[in-house]
Amino acid sequence: MEWCPVDAIIITPQESRINPDLCIGCGECKVTCNYEAVKVSGGNTNTRAVQEKMVEYALGGIKGKEKKMGYFNFLMDITPECDCCGWSDRPIVPDQGFLYSDDPVAIDQASLDLVNKARGFEDSALKENHEPGQDKFRGVHSDVDPEDQLRHAEKIGLGSRKYKLINID
Ligand code: SF4
Repeated sequence: MEWCPVDAIIITPQESRINPDLCIGCGECKVTCNYEAVKVSGGNTNTRAVQEKMVEYALGGIKGKEKKMGYFNFLMDITPECDCCGWSDRPIVPDQGFLYSDDPVAIDQASLDLVNKARGFEDSALKENHEPGQDKFRGVHSDVDPEDQLRHAEKIGLGSRKYKLINID
């Protein structure tokens, strides 16, 4: 209830439920709940839809400012959950460094690839896919395709998934 931005969660002694008329499908309650008690359902609220909405909002946010934007990704303390969660955990892979790009999709694709190329920490929330080249985020969230967001971002014109890494020591 604390995390819902639109007060859509109702908890009484008799019931716990989400008011579908108020819910905007942001997914905050789903990622915040430590007990996987929340199931957000409906045509526009599954995980893929939330990822697609995120990149659509990002596209709206940069509209008209494309040539003035630059992006930094800090691949440090790569924890199993999203940074927006109110808690943290041990990293699942070693730190990979800083990335810069003028393309928000290319930088995220490069970041994902770097994380997947790393060897995962056995003593972390990573349950499987520890070997270099295996999908680390699937190793934590087996039901989420981390590429959904990138595919949709490229499709709607937010950027390109193609990139060339240039190392600066
Ligand atoms: S997804 Fe959860 S947090 Fe987001 S609006 Fe719906 S009930 Fe509230």
